[in-house]
Amino acid sequence: MQDRIHNFNAGPAALPLPVLEEIRDSFLNFAGSGMSITEVSHRSKWFDDVINDAIERTKRLLKLDDQYHILFLQGGASMQFCMAPLNFLSDGRSADYINTGTWSTKAIKEAKIQKKPIKVVASSEDKNFCYIPKNISFNKDAAYVHLTSNNTIKGTQFESLPDTGTVPMIIDMSSDFMSRPVDMSKIGMIYAGAQKNIGPAGVCMVIIRQDLLDLVPDNIPSMLSYATFANTNSMYNTPPCFAIYTIQLVMKWLEETIGGLEKMDARNREKADLLYNFIDASGFYRATAEPGSRSLMNVTFRLPDETLEKTFVAKAIENKMGGLKGHRSVGGCRASIYNATGIDAVKDLVSFMTQFEKTSG
Ligand SMILES: *Cc1c(COP(=O)(O)O)cnc(C)c1O
Repeated sequence: MQDRIHNFNAGPAALPLPVLEEIRDSFLNFAGSGMSITEVSHRSKWFDDVINDAIERTKRLLKLDDQYHILFLQGGASMQFCMAPLNFLSDGRSADYINTGTWSTKAIKEAKIQKKPIKVVASSEDKNFCYIPKNISFNKDAAYVHLTSNNTIKGTQFESLPDTGTVPMIIDMSSDFMSRPVDMSKIGMIYAGAQKNIGPAGVCMVIIRQDLLDLVPDNIPSMLSYATFANTNSMYNTPPCFAIYTIQLVMKWLEETIGGLEKMDARNREKADLLYNFIDASGFYRATAEPGSRSLMNVTFRLPDETLEKTFVAKAIENKMGGLKGHRSVGGCRASIYNATGIDAVKDLVSFMTQFEKTSG
């Protein structure tokens, strides 16, 4: 497709082209219904097939057993910042939080607003969140440990998950969900706003283990209770049908075209290595995240000065590469290279960066 650009947006972000094409081709007449997916009832067999297939594929990709429920909620990942403490800390228990950047900070804030007795057990704020804290000690009586596996804005990522003993982890995986295999053995809940790596904006996927669901009290508002959605296959009220349908197609692409999460991981590593190796070898570009903590999804870097950064982003757009401006809170540049961004896009970016350095360095 000639008029499409290389999309390095952080979110909403690139989706696999075959998924977009399938949406286009079936948009006016979905599955022989004579209606668009945006027109069918969420109580119809057509939509049941969509949501159940999305769930089954997700379970197969992550090798989940029947202890886990898959939910589709609205309010974005940000809604989870308040829902997790509301649902799991009703009996006065505490939770441990790891602060690795903007999103963790917001999660901590939402628990504190509710006056929940949470503890921040580790933080990388001392160095502007450029690394992932190691050797953390956790409280054995915590109800959960909350962490952000990939820090979309600061460009860092947990290479492996910490050992929290018997305490279940709740992980904000918004920006690296389905990018690599996950060891579920210590995970009680995962949540992910779809618009980074698995679909369009408008839905947040939640994977929740039965023992955490058992902690949900009755006396919280229905729309803020995980139990409400677990008991209704996410159809207590009208779900975001189109967003769920797109997720179904992305999961199908991951299973059938990519061949699973090991293969996806290998592709993602190849892309990230190419870009970081180039940046590290250059005296002109500088990666902002420490080695060992670097994100395979969001590569953050600086140029020698801010004027050059502005020119770089503008010139990139002229060369059909979009989304390279860093988050407004941190500046600099960022290339988000999620699942749907191919190695070709990264190769083209590296040649553009080489050229830009030659003419501006
Ligand atoms: C984008 C993002 C969020 C916020 O997601 P919304 O769906 O906009 O609420 C939370 N956490 C992480 C890690 C993110 O990347």
